[in-house]
Amino acid sequence: MTDSATGEVLFLIEEQVPLQTFHTFALSARTRYFCRIKSQAALLALLKTPLFQSQPCVFLGGGSNTLFQHDFEGLVVKLEIQGIELIHENAQFVHIKVNAGENWHALVQYTLQHQWFGLENLSLIPGTAGAAPIQNIGAYGVEIKDVLLELEALELKTGKAVIFSNQDCCFAYRDSRFKREAGRYVITSITLKLSKQPVLHLDYASIQEALRARHLTRPTPQQVSALICAIRRQKLPDPAVVPNAGSFFKNPLVSASEYQRLSAAFPTLKSQKISDDEYKIAAGWLLEFCGFKGKKINNIGVYEKQALVLTNTGHASGKELAEAIQILTLAVQDKFGLSLEVEPQIY
Ligand code: FAD
Ligand code: NAP
Repeated sequence: MTDSATGEVLFLIEEQVPLQTFHTFALSARTRYFCRIKSQAALLALLKTPLFQSQPCVFLGGGSNTLFQHDFEGLVVKLEIQGIELIHENAQFVHIKVNAGENWHALVQYTLQHQWFGLENLSLIPGTAGAAPIQNIGAYGVEIKDVLLELEALELKTGKAVIFSNQDCCFAYRDSRFKREAGRYVITSITLKLSKQPVLHLDYASIQEALRARHLTRPTPQQVSALICAIRRQKLPDPAVVPNAGSFFKNPLVSASEYQRLSAAFPTLKSQKISDDEYKIAAGWLLEFCGFKGKKINNIGVYEKQALVLTNTGHASGKELAEAIQILTLAVQDKFGLSLEVEPQIY
């Protein structure tokens, strides 16, 4: 479609496009329609088209938390709207507005280069800025909810721009209103409040170990970022080499009484106390205890360094994935009485 005033091409609709390279688990599926969106004007124009209004639609960033188990009989829209803008600054903080298509890790590095702090623990998470609030991305004790001031989204039905404050996003553990209300809004930009003073979060045991190994007692945020990248590269498969979607299941949250039952039955249970009545159980440990770590179920692998990560070891099919999910979740249910919830979005 072209802009009637300028003649500029806003977007192209392609048909029968393979999706393997557009999602990091790399299942072999195709979409009936596909387009890339590079500006807000193009997005608004797309929302008005009969094609958009008549087809099921999936918005995609980096495809690192999305799997296409089947061919998709609709429209996949890859959001590539770029741009980072400093919109406010005082002695202590900056507010930056980041468009949805910006690469997340590149953004983290950009903020560190400018001495704006708060994102260092979220280094090397794949994907885009626009997708980051969907599941309230988190790692090493920091979540995007800790730094997100507000975000802008378009309501798909009306094309109306809506501003959501941090509170409006209803963030929770790997969750937000946008995950629960999938298909209602598309996020076009996020605004982050970052600190000019380092505020470090170094609690996780793997960070402590890495600091000790490097004899670092007062690391800079840049050093924390580099260290987290090193830990992640050691423990997680690179999706460009071994297709995967990161953690495949959420860590179950259980009550104190449920935790007591589990820890009495399984003294080596890996867990974290969240509050007096909430404990987080390490789903990777549950799968490891069931003996799945390093095993293969047809072409689905359970990663040898972290059982929570499933991999596509060859030409895995959607059917093989569904079977593997069933085998893993049933085993955990039988052994521990816990339901594992799949983290990525599966279509
Ligand atoms: P996509 O997979 O493209 O999309 C994810 C979902 O959001 C889909 O439902 C999609 O429709 C929707 N969506 C995407 N963009 C928009 C938008 N602009 N508006 C509305 N909806 C949208 N996650 C963590 O939380 N912490 C981690 O430490 C972490 N580590 C990972 C490590 C690896 C190796 C991998 C492969 C994944 C990891 N993830 C992690 C998961 C993933 O990287 C994040 O969830 C990331 O935010 C997904 O971004 P994306 O652009 O790839 O999203
Ligand atoms: P890890 O350090 O081996 O820890 C295992 C689990 O225990 C994690 O899931 C973590 O929960 C929890 N945990 C450990 N120390 C904790 C603490 N001090 N306070 C609260 N919870 C604690 O985990 P990992 O596999 O190497 O991953 C490291 C970090 O990267 C984790 O935060 C993880 O969530 C994140 N990550 C996420 C994905 C994804 O796709 N979602 C993929 C890779 C890594 P949390 O998961 O709640 O932190």
